Amino acid sequence: MFTTILSVPETMNRHANFYRDIVFFFASLLWLPVTCHGEMLAGAAKVDITDYQAGPVHDPLYAKALVLKQGEVQIAIVTVDAVAIGGIGRLKDRYLSTVRTAIDQSLGIPPSNVLVNASHCHGVVRGDTDKLTIQAIKDAANNLVPIRIGVGVGHEDRVGENRRLLMKDGREIDVRHAYSMPPDAEVVGVGPIDPQIGVLRLDRLSGKPMAVIYNYACHPIQGVPSGANTADITGLASTVIEDNLGSEAMAFFLQGCGGDINPVFYKHVDQPRDAVTLGNLLALSTLKTIRSIETKSDDRLRWINEKLELPRADLAEKIIQQEQQQLELAKSLRGTTLSVKTFLPLVVKYRLSDQYPAYYSHRYLHEEKLGREELAVLDARNRRDIEAYLDNIETMEKLTRSNTNLRLLRMHQKQNMEAPKRTVSVELIGCRIGDFVLTSFPGELTVQIGLNLKDKSPHKNTFIAGYTNGYIYYAPTTKQLANVGGAQEDSDCILAPRWQEIYEQKALKILGQL
Ligand SMILES: [Zn+2]
Repeated sequence: MFTTILSVPETMNRHANFYRDIVFFFASLLWLPVTCHGEMLAGAAKVDITDYQAGPVHDPLYAKALVLKQGEVQIAIVTVDAVAIGGIGRLKDRYLSTVRTAIDQSLGIPPSNVLVNASHCHGVVRGDTDKLTIQAIKDAANNLVPIRIGVGVGHEDRVGENRRLLMKDGREIDVRHAYSMPPDAEVVGVGPIDPQIGVLRLDRLSGKPMAVIYNYACHPIQGVPSGANTADITGLASTVIEDNLGSEAMAFFLQGCGGDINPVFYKHVDQPRDAVTLGNLLALSTLKTIRSIETKSDDRLRWINEKLELPRADLAEKIIQQEQQQLELAKSLRGTTLSVKTFLPLVVKYRLSDQYPAYYSHRYLHEEKLGREELAVLDARNRRDIEAYLDNIETMEKLTRSNTNLRLLRMHQKQNMEAPKRTVSVELIGCRIGDFVLTSFPGELTVQIGLNLKDKSPHKNTFIAGYTNGYIYYAPTTKQLANVGGAQEDSDCILAPRWQEIYEQKALKILGQL
């Protein structure tokens, strides 16, 4: 475990400022150019990483690099339009170390000073994204200019919604394309979102924006109507921000705690799902914040990089529970006289008219006059058959959810059992750039964890980046992990429930040091 705090102590800062002012004064008399060693320098560059061979492309995917230098300290913040940094998707596990080693050798930026965040968009990137990323970092480092910085907090609550639904029986089910929704009447509550957009603005000394970092929690998985390759909501938002800022300013999206945040209307079937609309909303809210930020000279650059061991789960018991539940569900399926061909027209007829579903009303009136109940008996039987058929459909839908989540549980149990140790190592970064404070985690943190850390942090402008420097799947709360098998976030997870307390304590300690 190692810690590096890279900063100039406050007292040294004051002395440095005093001597700097004297140097500036004499230099101005002599018309000499002065380079101040304390000032913050930054350079930004981007490179297209879209795999154009993989099929039609709607909009390009990028790796973007922001290099910051203050005195002898250099750091690189890299954002990638990819699903994850290793683990799943096109970027292999060695991607991060390949990039870091090359940057250490060529630029002298130590591996611990490189932060790489995946937007978690599900676009297809090139196989040589590692080489392209290295190029972007080098280009950024070769274009360092003095900067002024400022921080702001924006608000956007129209883009995402919490995807976990609280059911009447206390369980939680999430909204996915992998399975169907539960019956509306069973849903009694929904989870929170984090509408904050954390914004760091970096201006050239002329006042023109050079770069913007914005941090927000959402799953950029909306897609575009054509189904083509896309950097999705966040990539599209970045382009809108860049187009509006002009002067080659670059927008860096840092994914937040979007583990359980879906795009709104994610399951809509009546209109094409379009990330462009949501990207525009996110961009406009971010731009509003960017314009409200006043930048100033600020030489505070602090960086902490620590390792933390988190306990691995033993999912054996949960798997047995799920298998048992599946058996019970399968046994509960009953034979019905209806098939889909007879069920569909029948259910429409019986939903159209409650009183006279089988035929016109006059026949019901005739039967009543004649003292017969033939249509009434038919209706009762049809209603019973419709309900029985619907029960089977609901049971089948439950089975599809259980099957999908059980597959995840079995996969992670195998991984955990084969792992060389009972813990998983994660890398956490803490960083302060002026008033902008950030800490990172290499997995899909659910939104409540981000809200907890923001609430308890000693700093006003605290932001959390998930999906950073590695990928260890979902990281839901201890409470959400009591629901294992019900939703993706609690099933697609290798962590034991007590991980949350260990992590939050450590993250708060890191934040405290910033
Ligand atoms: Zn995800």
